Amino acid sequence: MSGGDKLDFEIRPNPAPVSVADRAALLANPGFGRVFTDHMVTIHYADGKGWYDARVEARGPIPLDPAAAVLHYAQEIFEGLKAYRTADGGVTLFRPQANAARFAASARRMAMPELPPEAFVESLRRLVEIDRDWVPESDDGSLYLRPFMFASEVFLGVRPANEYLYVVIASPAGAYFPGGVRPVTVWVSPDYTRAAPGGTGAAKCGGNYAASLAAQAEAIEAGCDQVVFLDAVERRFVDELGGMNVFFVYDDDTLVTPPLTGTILPGITRDAVLTLAAEAGLQVREQPVSFADWQADAVSGRLREVFACGTAAVITPIGGVRFPDGEFLVGGGEPGRATMALRQQLVDIQRGRAADPHDWVVRV
Ligand code: PMP
Repeated sequence: MSGGDKLDFEIRPNPAPVSVADRAALLANPGFGRVFTDHMVTIHYADGKGWYDARVEARGPIPLDPAAAVLHYAQEIFEGLKAYRTADGGVTLFRPQANAARFAASARRMAMPELPPEAFVESLRRLVEIDRDWVPESDDGSLYLRPFMFASEVFLGVRPANEYLYVVIASPAGAYFPGGVRPVTVWVSPDYTRAAPGGTGAAKCGGNYAASLAAQAEAIEAGCDQVVFLDAVERRFVDELGGMNVFFVYDDDTLVTPPLTGTILPGITRDAVLTLAAEAGLQVREQPVSFADWQADAVSGRLREVFACGTAAVITPIGGVRFPDGEFLVGGGEPGRATMALRQQLVDIQRGRAADPHDWVVRV
């Protein structure tokens, strides 16, 4: 595929889909990431040929040669977004073009070919259309979409591969907080950093997550939900969480989040929060926040709220912070007012219950 050419998707319906009764049972309690729909999208790429063989087909194992480049040098990127059920029975996606743009940016950083954004969005549409009945009807459920791409060329040399496979799978997800939103406690890692300047921190590549697992395990051991990474150079400024961006709300109605300097993932939720907060009259700033200031301002009360944001948990209050030398609370450990208001507003837009002046919501 080149230029503005459109990919034609061949549809091969799954001859043995999950029965209606079994699907209902699975959707009653899907958890996260363990239940999958009947289909997947696959698109191949080869140098000189471009993108070809776009298909919607039965979900199943992918044949992989042991010398496939991804298994050795981790040339792999992915995305994550959700399809939501609306009150009128429709299905929506939230800013899929933004995921398409980030996927292309990740591809550039990892020396992979860029899937044209129209093909990316079309692949999501096709999968949601055919697996529509898998989008949970419950108020807080969703269908998580996972597009990804990896180097499939059979070659052990260290260079960008010349063959790739792009795949989209879908997984129904239940409520992130089944008992209602609760503040999380975070662990500030003393040993591990996530991304250095010039590294891959702004790309959504599997390697970033492999490198974060030891730190996340340390957080769980310390009784925390998520790890906070500090910058890799001075170990002083807050970068982000293992899988979410972070925001600070001060008593003068200022909202601060670390800037996009290449070491953090440019979250789509982060971008939406910046827009909504500014519209709500908050002073919004993208600037570094040191861990020392985080602690001092939380203790003095100047810092009223801290929250994490991302596709999975939308907006999540951070109530407690732990580090090797101690711990402290933010806002008395309770969810803050600005945090919960932004959360409600965002959820209402995503689920088609509120006006959408920015055209973020795409109906499928
Ligand atoms: N940071 C990291 C490291 C993440 O994995 C995610 C989840 N994709 C985010 C931030 C939030 O990004 P988004 O709002 O696009 O989900």
